[in-house]
This record gives sequence, structure tokens and C-alpha cells, in this order.
Amino acid sequence: MTATATRVLVLNSGSSSVKYQLIDMNDGTRLAVGLVERIGEQTSRLAHTPLAAGGDKRETEGAIADHDAALKAVAAELAADGLGLDSPQLAAIGHRVVHGGLKFTEPTVIDDAVLKEIERLVPVAPLHNPANLTGIRTAQAMRPDLPQVAVFDTAFHATMPEYAARYAIDVETADAHRIRRYGFHGTSHAYVSRKTAALLGKDPSEVNVIVLHLGNGASASAVAGGRCVDTSMGLTPLEGLVMGTRSGDIDPAVTFHLKRVAGMSTDEIDVLLNKKSGLIGLCGDNDMREIRRRIDEGDERAELAFDIYIHRLKKYIGAYSAVLGRVDAVAFTAGVGENAAPVREAAVAGLEEMGMAVDASLNAIRSDEPRLISPEYARVAVAVVPTDEELEIAQQTYALVNA
Ligand code: ADP
Repeated sequence: MTATATRVLVLNSGSSSVKYQLIDMNDGTRLAVGLVERIGEQTSRLAHTPLAAGGDKRETEGAIADHDAALKAVAAELAADGLGLDSPQLAAIGHRVVHGGLKFTEPTVIDDAVLKEIERLVPVAPLHNPANLTGIRTAQAMRPDLPQVAVFDTAFHATMPEYAARYAIDVETADAHRIRRYGFHGTSHAYVSRKTAALLGKDPSEVNVIVLHLGNGASASAVAGGRCVDTSMGLTPLEGLVMGTRSGDIDPAVTFHLKRVAGMSTDEIDVLLNKKSGLIGLCGDNDMREIRRRIDEGDERAELAFDIYIHRLKKYIGAYSAVLGRVDAVAFTAGVGENAAPVREAAVAGLEEMGMAVDASLNAIRSDEPRLISPEYARVAVAVVPTDEELEIAQQTYALVNA
């Protein structure tokens, strides 16, 4: 790396998509952002926005066969703006990797041994780790000389005490199959809990925060003095809160019942719980905007779905208040948490005895900045803190290659 290398490319490779951002680490400026969708289909789409050049979004449609072709197309778009992967200003590539198991609790420079270990974790993250691996291998082939860093979604949760991480099942069986609670969205929980402390004018070590990451996927975490002590997702991202298409917590016996009584296969149950449950299963919509619109029109199914979503959220706020003992702040983040004022209002309603309240006029303000929405008298700060997983990945990557 040269002294002028101050840029980091962040790659988030999903099963059929690649999201990317090129970030200047001097000040966190986005130089270019984009997304390749529907990789492997005839109708792939690349949307690229060259922010540095002040250019408009460029969209290209047409078959992109695989991740290799997708990354080459991204590289060509970047090169067209003078931001190509061969630029000496590029310091590193930071990859989001979903599952780091027990081994990876820190961002890690990727070598062959690291690749092998990410591969060894495929059985516990069958949907995510293979796509992450493909993205890494393709990027390595394009710039073999450049440091590539893996930033793991599970890492922030590695500090959970054993009694929070272990399921109460037979220890030998659990250990033989690496069954335990790992947690996900860790990059976001880390970033948001730190930002919340900053909003309160405190060091992260001084505050206890409940972070509610409510996107299409959703998770809660209890963060004590900057360290995660519990989180709602488990072995996989299926556990915990009601999500856009995932059930979150259910009695595990529901799965036996679906098999024995409804005659469903394991794969069918997997699809049911991950893709056809949660808000979409309850009311046919997973977008909170649409659900609120239907509620305003008097739609009872949408209202029940909303109530179930809020009830679960409230239970986690209560549980994590007990886990933390003292709560300094509750922070809402991600698509729903940052934008859906009715969700924030309903989740905190009735928790005044716990020191939590939302001020209606503060809650109604729309902004991209971290902000308090609790009234001055409230003992617990309730905050909206926009997440920025890409910046967090870039910062962790840059810090590691400059260490
Ligand atoms: P993910 O990264 O998990 O795909 P996001 O964090 O981008 O999800 O959140 C997407 C969700 O945010 C949407 O499905 C929608 O429910 C919700 N959302 C986005 N904008 C708004 C809005 N203005 N009002 C209410 N909900 C919103």
C-alpha cells in the first residue's frame, strides 16, 4: 500500500446480488455506490452512481452470468469514472462475511487459511457464506496484490457470555454440530451502539444500550459498556423478532408438527419460516409503508400483523432491560427503525414506568442525523440512529491494513 492509498472498496456479496461502495477514508466520502441484482438471470441489472464525478445513476440491464462477470462489470463502471480497481489510491477491499463462527471475532486479512475456515462454516450459513466466498475469490483474482479484509456479521456478538450464547440442549450434540447462538447484524449493532453513546456525549464504556435494528431482517441486542451481552438472532438469522419474511421466535415443535402432520419437507419448512412468514406471512405485505397505509384504510389483517410485530419488539425491550439492569438508551435503526415513526411510538408506548417514552413531535421529525426522540424528563434516552454498515466495514478494513 502506498501513502496515497486512502480508498476502500466495500463489497457485500449476496446469493444473487453484489452491493458496493468506494469510500475515501480521509473523510468517509462516498466516491461511487452501486448494486448488481439478479445475477445468474436474464434480467440482471447494474445500477452505478458515480458520486465523486457528480454523475447521475447509470443503469444497465441484461444477463450477468455469475459473480465473476458481475464484479468485472462493476470494475468497468468504476474505471469509466477513473476509479478503477487498478488505482494506486485503493488501499484494500473490505468484504462483508455473514458467518465467522467462533474463530473470527475481529476483522481479518484474508489468506488461504481464512478462506478455508469461512468455507468450513458453510453448513451453519448455507445461504450466505458461499456467496461471500465467491465475492472474495473473484476480487482476489482481479487484484491479487491488494489486501482483502473480511468483516464478520457475527463478530460483535462474540462477547456474549456463555449462558446467553448456549441453547439449553444436550451439550455433546450442540458442540458436535457447532449449534449455539452467534447473532448477526453485528456490524450495525457495533456502529449504532457507539454512535448512540456519542449522541449522549459519553464514551461507549459508560453506557448500556438496547439496539433495535429493524430492516427487512430485524434483530435486537443488549450492549453493556460497548460489549454485546445478548442478541436476538441465533444459530441463523431466523430467531428473534418478527421480520419482513421471517417468523422469528416460534416453538421448535411447530417444525415437527409441520413435518408429521402437514407432511412438509425440511426444505419446505425452511422456505415457509424464512421467506413466507413474518409480516408477509401474516398480512401479505412486508413493507412497513404499505402495512401502515392499509391500517389507515381500516385493514384488520395489516393491523394484527403490526400488533404482533410490536408485541414481540416490546418483549425484547423488556427482556434486555432485565439483562442490562440499567438502560441508558434505546436506539432504533435500519429501514423501519429509522423511518417508521408509528413503530417507534408503539414499541415504547406504555413503558413509562421503565423510564421510556417518546415525544410525538420529536418522533415525527425526519432526518438522516442521529437524534433523540424522548422527552426531556425520560430517564432512558430513546434515539433514532441511522446505521452505516458500509462505513463501519471500510473503517475496520482501513484500520487493519494500516495497523
Ligand atoms: P434490509 O437491509 O434488511 O433489506 P432495510 O434496512 O433497507 O432492509 O429496510 C427495508 C425496510 O424498511 C422496508 O422493507 C420497509 O419495511 C422499511 N422502510 C423503508 N422506508 C420506510 C419508510 N419511509 N417508512 C416505513 N418503513 C420504511
